[in-house]
Amino acid sequence: MYEPYLSALADLFYPERCVGCERRASDVLCRTCFEALPGVGSPVCRRCGLPTAFATFVCEGCKNVDFGFESAKAPLKYEGVGKKIVHALKYRGYKRVVERLATPLMLQVLDDGRFDAIVPVPLHRLRLRKRGFNQAELLARGVAEKIKATVSDTLEVVRSTRDQVELSAAQRRANVAGAYTATVPLRGRILLIDDVFTTGATMSACAGTLVRAGAEEVHALSLCRTV
Ligand SMILES: [Zn+2]
Ligand SMILES: [Zn+2]
Repeated sequence: MYEPYLSALADLFYPERCVGCERRASDVLCRTCFEALPGVGSPVCRRCGLPTAFATFVCEGCKNVDFGFESAKAPLKYEGVGKKIVHALKYRGYKRVVERLATPLMLQVLDDGRFDAIVPVPLHRLRLRKRGFNQAELLARGVAEKIKATVSDTLEVVRSTRDQVELSAAQRRANVAGAYTATVPLRGRILLIDDVFTTGATMSACAGTLVRAGAEEVHALSLCRTV
């Protein structure tokens, strides 16, 4: 038990291999994978973060969707190296990936860093126990440290939800409706953080919960987004 534990612990801080291609690298990504980062780029829809032909405040993709948040942003597309980075965070919890890569990328797309609190999307407690950490919380702490904000773990999962991979956008919204609760009241401007933004159903349900708990506005930030 002792040695695997130590090496697992070392892995948390010092992955010795590129998280994109598994080859030995001196940093979290080798040069090739760094250059292959799938940036979302600009312009994007100001509301949902989807790449658009022109800068816009609402796009074809989100014009008929109600969101609990004011805006959603993400620096990377959920594909290629972006997907590999999320995988490394989700299953390995690499803190160095958060510090060296994810946090700087997320800060690049955040044009206003004034928030009263940063809130990670929570994991169900059984999933949290199994995994040992919440990757959204790792990201939230990374961002909070840089913009000098406090992390509030006010959100909790009150009802377990189905895995969303196979679900349509409408099914995802139904799946997460009423799944979250806020344990402490909030105020002001909140930054809600998750690893991946897909349809926005999870972020929207969490943001709605934060608004009902007193938040004035909620902005969503994720490392990756499907496009
Ligand atoms: Zn690589
Ligand atoms: Zn949009």
